[in-house]
Amino acid sequence: MKAIISKNEILPSHLDPEHFGSIFWHIREHPEEPQSKRVGEVLELLSSLRDDLSTRGKGQVIARLRHVLSNYRWGVHVSPTSEGFRAIYFPADRGSFDKWEYEAVRDLLDLVPYLGKPPRVRRCAECKAWFFAAKKNDQQYCDGVCRQHRYDSSPEMRESKKLYMRKYREDEKKRKASQDRAAKREAEQGRTRKSLC
Ligand SMILES: [Zn+2]
Repeated sequence: MKAIISKNEILPSHLDPEHFGSIFWHIREHPEEPQSKRVGEVLELLSSLRDDLSTRGKGQVIARLRHVLSNYRWGVHVSPTSEGFRAIYFPADRGSFDKWEYEAVRDLLDLVPYLGKPPRVRRCAECKAWFFAAKKNDQQYCDGVCRQHRYDSSPEMRESKKLYMRKYREDEKKRKASQDRAAKREAEQGRTRKSLC
């Protein structure tokens, strides 16, 4: 199978990071929907599939996944695609689950062999939204806005802003004092000139 491979990015081309972005977007926009909550649980479990877990820890995550996934019933057919034949899973019994949920779970399961170490399915360290770290394995934030926000609100950044403002106010005070002195000098010189006339 053809794969998109760049520096830190290894995903087969049918797994488009933007597509996963739309799944995460749905969850972010509709957090109260039962579908979002169930898909969120699958995400939580996928993001917990860490190699550094103990055997017992891995067993617990896998058992929970098995339980959550047992709610879905799949049919499968084989289809020709631009990248050769592929097995396509479809909902065999939708029951109370809708098409979006089924497809989201199916597509997320496709990610399992490519989750990475630690899993690239993560919550943003700032806004807690889900994202897929497709470009950088150490990516912690869902986008640049969250990264900047965290940077701006870090204690070091707040301290350096405070120091900058203190220095700015001191400089302003000095500038004002020197202006006042110059104005006073000018006024005195004016008075001297007048008295000499
Ligand atoms: Zn974020």
